[in-house]
Amino acid sequence: MNKVVLITGAAQGIGKAIALELAKNHYDIVINYRSSHKEAMELKETILNLGVRCMAICADVSKEQEVDDMVSQIEKEMGGVDVLINNAGIDLSNLFHLKTADEFRKTMDVNVIGAFNCAKRVYHHMLDQEYGRIINISSTNGINTYYPMCIDYDASKAALISLTHNLAFEFAPYVNVNCIAPGFIGTENELDGYDEEFLKEECEKIMVNRYGNPEEVAYLVKFLISSEANFINNTVIRIDGGQKGSC
Ligand code: NAP
Repeated sequence: MNKVVLITGAAQGIGKAIALELAKNHYDIVINYRSSHKEAMELKETILNLGVRCMAICADVSKEQEVDDMVSQIEKEMGGVDVLINNAGIDLSNLFHLKTADEFRKTMDVNVIGAFNCAKRVYHHMLDQEYGRIINISSTNGINTYYPMCIDYDASKAALISLTHNLAFEFAPYVNVNCIAPGFIGTENELDGYDEEFLKEECEKIMVNRYGNPEEVAYLVKFLISSEANFINNTVIRIDGGQKGSC
């Protein structure tokens, strides 16, 4: 039986790339989405055509009840979540003096509480079966502040790194919990609205002189959940092409 992977926020961007790459490698896929219904349905069709099982479920990860309902549906139809990829995230960029506490709370709700809700809900299943893998998609912004507009986003991604360490303790010894911190990844949403000059300047801050592709993050996820990575636990791996001036 294939392992069942739940990827949050998987209808587009990095989550979609992870879903496709894992489906090609014989994992059964659950696409979680919040508003991208059409994209989620199209992706589901594509994945089903690859010959693995696939569900697409609408749920807001920041809402405990919606996460509970989503995982119950997965348990009923697929047996349970073996691998959880906490990928859903929002970035409500704004200048510091315009940023509101409500915006800050919303970012923490999705980026941190969302990951907590999903991890908590799959906890018993993973412990009972003595197997599981959890990957949290943080950001290099959670390690070193990169953009001044992202005060709440940066704090949320740092909190997700901290959450990773605590989850690794809670889920040990059978479940490995790791964190991936991408740098600039050229998803459609990320590139939207950037002009050529800005993109060039951003790429000059990266040692390999380009932004990353969502598929490159997916390859790292694929490795980290494979048996080859069984001894990799409780760690944070940057995937950023080498950001100049940071280590
Ligand atoms: P994206 O294209 O904006 O995708 C993020 C997804 O999160 C969206 O598809 C959205 O779903 C989902 N989402 C948002 N709020 C949600 C909620 N409450 N419940 C469930 N799903 C929710 O972003 P991306 O660039 O692929 O980023 C994916 C992850 O990588 C994020 O955590 C991001 O912070 C992180 N990251 C990205 C970069 C980058 O350069 N792209 C760099 C570092 C880290 P709907 O569309 O269905 O609403």
